[in-house]
Amino acid sequence: MANRSSVIDCYVGLGSNLDQPVQQIEQALTELNHLPNTDCVAVSSLYHSQPMGPADQPDYVNAVARLNTTYSALELLQQLLKLENSHGRQRQPQQQNGPRTLDLDLLIYGDQCIDEPGLTVPHPGLHRRDFVLLPMLEISPDVDVPGLGKLSVWREKSVNHGAQRGDAPRWQ
Ligand code: AMP
Repeated sequence: MANRSSVIDCYVGLGSNLDQPVQQIEQALTELNHLPNTDCVAVSSLYHSQPMGPADQPDYVNAVARLNTTYSALELLQQLLKLENSHGRQRQPQQQNGPRTLDLDLLIYGDQCIDEPGLTVPHPGLHRRDFVLLPMLEISPDVDVPGLGKLSVWREKSVNHGAQRGDAPRWQ
């Protein structure tokens, strides 16, 4: 990273259930690591889970990456949306939580709580979804969620999507 003057520690959730989901996630991890102003400092295993939305869609592959970045939260979100688009993400406005080639969520951005049009951080519901909570706890067992406290406390209360830990992803 060129200028490390204000490096922010943050977490990004990745999910895919279309067009070779494991490769989608592995490629996205490599792309996150190669973003300007950004280093990928930890990556969870791949998790396999059932869909949160409509049941008539393939199971998901999920992972969480810990990044150090000098981007602002909004700049980082824009980079994430650009990556989703470059993976052929098609949005179906009439269908929430439908199938997707790549979903990238900004889960935590330093100790900041942000609630503005187009960006809510910490990501709402992150502590209630086992496919986010389990990979986050794998890489950062003591992580604090701004406004919520220790993520580990939420483990028993999270909704079970059957998230099963799988292989370590290949990324560079
Ligand atoms: P989705 O891809 O369906 O999860 O939703 C993407 C939309 O959610 C985008 O238009 C973002 O502006 C908005 N959004 C709000 N907060 C976040 C966040 N923390 N991470 C990712 N997208 C967010």
